[in-house]
Amino acid sequence: MQICYPNESGTRLVFMCPGCKCGHYVRVKQEGDGTPWSWNGSLEKPTFSPSVLTWGPGLGDAVGAEEGRCHSFVTDGQIQFLSDCTHSLAGQTVPLGPW
Ligand SMILES: [Zn+2]
Repeated sequence: MQICYPNESGTRLVFMCPGCKCGHYVRVKQEGDGTPWSWNGSLEKPTFSPSVLTWGPGLGDAVGAEEGRCHSFVTDGQIQFLSDCTHSLAGQTVPLGPW
């Protein structure tokens, strides 16, 4: 079951975050000045390293918050949310699903 998807150029992968209910991109190939994340090459049970940190207005369940924050480790297709996430899955580990 594919749970992450490459962009057109193959430099990034996107997965559906069950905490934010939106997609998060992870850069897996050199692109501009950005350093790629390490990736195990799997679209079905991806592992990314280091952690994935996303932030922005209205992210997650933090309705009205100026800044939402989502911080996770993705390992073997499971997403482990760290306790500094602003959504309700903070501190939990859940399997990623298809888009
Ligand atoms: Zn998220």
